[in-house]
Amino acid sequence: MMSTATTRSTPLTSAAHAALMFPALRSAQIARIASRGVIRPITRAEVLIEGGQTDVPFFVVTSGEIEVIRPSGLGDLLVAVVHANQFTGDVSMLLGRPAQMRLRVSESGEVVQLTRDQMHVLIQTDAEIGAVLMKALIYRRIELVAQGIGDVLLIGSAHSAATLRIKAFLTRNDHPYKYLDLDRDADVRDLLDRFRVKPAELPVLISRGEAVLKNPGNQEIADYLGFNGRIDRVHQRDVVIVGAGPAGLAAAVYAASEGLDALVLEASSPGGQAGSSSRIENYLGFPTGISGQELAGRAYAQAQKFGAEVMIAKSAAELICDGRPYGVRLDDGATIPARTVIVATGARYRKPSLANLGKFEGVGVYYNATFMEEAQLADGDDVIVVGGANSAGQAAIFLAQTGRRVHVLVRADSLSESMSRYLLRRIEETPTIHIRTRTEIVALEGNGHLERVQWRDGTGAVSSHDIKHVFLMTGAEANTGWLNGCVALDEKGFVKTGSDLTKGDLAAAQWPLERSPGLLETSRPGVFAVGDVRCGNIKRVASAVGEGSIAIAFVHQVLHE
Ligand SMILES: Cc1cc2nc3c(=O)[nH]c(=O)nc-3n(C[C@H](O)[C@H](O)[C@H](O)COP(=O)(O)OP(=O)(O)OC[C@H]3O[C@@H](n4cnc5c(N)ncnc54)[C@H](O)[C@@H]3O)c2cc1C
Repeated sequence: MMSTATTRSTPLTSAAHAALMFPALRSAQIARIASRGVIRPITRAEVLIEGGQTDVPFFVVTSGEIEVIRPSGLGDLLVAVVHANQFTGDVSMLLGRPAQMRLRVSESGEVVQLTRDQMHVLIQTDAEIGAVLMKALIYRRIELVAQGIGDVLLIGSAHSAATLRIKAFLTRNDHPYKYLDLDRDADVRDLLDRFRVKPAELPVLISRGEAVLKNPGNQEIADYLGFNGRIDRVHQRDVVIVGAGPAGLAAAVYAASEGLDALVLEASSPGGQAGSSSRIENYLGFPTGISGQELAGRAYAQAQKFGAEVMIAKSAAELICDGRPYGVRLDDGATIPARTVIVATGARYRKPSLANLGKFEGVGVYYNATFMEEAQLADGDDVIVVGGANSAGQAAIFLAQTGRRVHVLVRADSLSESMSRYLLRRIEETPTIHIRTRTEIVALEGNGHLERVQWRDGTGAVSSHDIKHVFLMTGAEANTGWLNGCVALDEKGFVKTGSDLTKGDLAAAQWPLERSPGLLETSRPGVFAVGDVRCGNIKRVASAVGEGSIAIAFVHQVLHE
């Protein structure tokens, strides 16, 4: 039964999804939770959790009432009130991160108290209660992010790349924050004076109203906000998964759910390339599409639920493969021992160095030319394809099918010699395709959506064109620099696996076993490669997820060898 206590107007408990965020547990459920923890009284004004506290306990209120407060040097904010039969907690708890909120008793009563570890085990072992808790925690986090209620205030200019980077980092890590735009918010200057911040030190991140991080790097933010606080870097893992894109997150979910001790290393934020997609419409089970950010957030929470640990803003700098266990050296020098390794570091598209490119990705600038991107084009729109190899040729022909003009911009003197003859012939036979050699884009302009492009031609002249769609088909580079020569790569630097490995590759790598490398296994036993980093990959979320999942079956086999 829902509590009948009066509901105060607070951002979370008054929100549209309040019932999803604060469900009432049934008495049988509370009894099951109580059997795992302790029952204790709570007294009005008692602070149960302080903002920033680590090792955060979990409470189910059986009587009385708890206020959830966002502490801030600029004034506390009452965020929610937890009534009888409801429970406290936020995704931070699951992630083992410090508390963002203060919990203060507003009406004396009694609670069931579980430690963070007891709560974690509860979620993993009691499917019914686990589902109720996970749903509530995820909805609370979504609402906190949507309303910008967190322990972090970001101040900077919307025109600064560093501000955009920090915003992207916090958003893609689902960390709620409030943003104050230096150029728009009149009170910002006073605030900066109060924290003794000079304009040159912007952007700044102010946490819990006290700490001021001046133009912090992603790693500094991750360290300060405790993203990686509880993670042990010393003990040997069954599997270290490098990269938390769709492939790495899928591997983490399957590894942890099947009882493996799995650690994921992510150089930036969970989600990889897919995380930057505004809407993925071809992933099974999401008929109306899902944003890459949401898909990644769900997968991340799922991996944590099963007990996988994910290190954020930590790059693998080197694979150490001269003995078993393998070692994965981090960019901060620590080396993590690993019985098996899954390489899921994906690829990055070669991007022209245009200052505002990121602003138009998905809204005028695309890295694929499929029916989905094509659907964004209006009839008769001119389009630009950048690149001179097969992918650019295919895109140009595909886009020209509806009769629109396609400008193919190539930096070189001609299309690539590697372009297939059939594509060359079709391009020659299509009058609406215009090849512009020794030409490159120098500026992108638009408000929200791309509206205009400037390009420089072979004579050095710069001209402006009202073209709203640019397809960058300049190829992808695999993120394999850290592999340190440990595994065989193809000529483009992608990791070879399974039947792609030749006898020569195996001889060069001194493959030590009688069996051949398994599917997804590299030239080094127990080192697997999945997703976009793998030679022959097909650049899709579903295939990356599939490969990440399958690889775990092979990890089990290798661990039993
Ligand atoms: C804008 C965009 C839209 C897309 N839309 C779709 C779509 O609609 N449908 C679809 O099916 N596919 C889409 N794709 C393709 C899809 O996103 C990729 O195929 C998929 O993300 C590949 O997953 P992955 O896990 O193999 O690699 P990635 O997504 O590339 O992830 C690799 C991860 O590894 C991390 N990493 C790299 N190096 C290191 C290191 N040294 N240490 C630690 N971590 C490291 C990276 O930070 C990254 O998070 C899109 C791609 C882009 C760029």
